[in-house]
Amino acid sequence: MKKISILIPCYNEEKSLPLLYPELLKLMESMPAYEWELMFVNDGSRDDTLQVLKQLREKDPRVNYVDLSRNFGKENAMLAGFDHVTGDCMVIIDADLQHPPTLISEMVKWWEQGYDDVYAKRKSRGKESWLRKRLSLGFYKILQSSSRFDVLQNVGDFRLLDRCCVNALKSLRESERYTKGMYSWIGFKKKELLFEQGDRVAGESSWSYRQLFSFAIDGITSFTTLPLRISTVVGFIVSLCAFLYMVYVFFKAVIVGEPVQGYPTLVILILFLGGIQLLSLGIIGEYIGRIYNETKNRPDYIVREINGQRQQHEKG
Ligand code: UDP
Ligand code: MG
Repeated sequence: MKKISILIPCYNEEKSLPLLYPELLKLMESMPAYEWELMFVNDGSRDDTLQVLKQLREKDPRVNYVDLSRNFGKENAMLAGFDHVTGDCMVIIDADLQHPPTLISEMVKWWEQGYDDVYAKRKSRGKESWLRKRLSLGFYKILQSSSRFDVLQNVGDFRLLDRCCVNALKSLRESERYTKGMYSWIGFKKKELLFEQGDRVAGESSWSYRQLFSFAIDGITSFTTLPLRISTVVGFIVSLCAFLYMVYVFFKAVIVGEPVQGYPTLVILILFLGGIQLLSLGIIGEYIGRIYNETKNRPDYIVREINGQRQQHEKG
């Protein structure tokens, strides 16, 4: 019998889990030809998520959980899940029922037909401000035009991955993770399904503009070095202009003479060059920061307990 694992990263989901579980139960009952495993990753929730998981596990041995020692963020929580699922394939789904579990049976059908990565694409983006939509669109444009693979817009983590994809993802162990890029990067045979994303059933979404911005920078810096290239090109163009202007100023001073003047030109030049230099330094700094974090080689997450068993040390 083939085994399907469902991976659910949870952060403060005590109210959603009692609603999600019956849905998953219905799904599992409707597909008895498979063995099922529910893998919940408790990402350092501050509420009673862990207690809820423990109660679920008492009732249903298919429920497994990995409890992380603190909040590591969804990307790292998912990696913890990748490391611990045992199924022949894995479905990643949010705990807040924004992803309809009913779509999973269709995903499995495509998987059986030989697709390795069946991902769900949102038909619309739901309630979101105009600014947020524009920013997101711009971000995907930059990413798509600068890397050799497609990072798709409106596609999230809701997808079915074959064991081969899970193993590939497990082997990418960078510390600032951008999993959405990784799905594309690893390749394999992909299939797209459409779905309508609902609103959160309970609790709150944890994304602020600041977090989205830093996530966008993670995405860009971990998949393309285009910003470095741009700063080189801009630097080159600006130096060329500066050189031509220098020649002009020099000969003008020699031939016509130069009374003391030119305060505006000086100020403009200093500010302009200073700005470009700071920007380029900032871009280089972003990449160096990432190199720094990577060289520390810390585990991506720390596990506190698995299914009620305390862990000593586990390198993630
Ligand atoms: N999540 C997590 N760790 C975090 C933040 C979120 O594991 O630090 C989980 C959360 O419990 C949910 C999923 O990631 O299952 C998506 O989170 P959320 O609904 O807040 O994001 P959104 O749907 O707004 O993108
Ligand atoms: Mg959500």
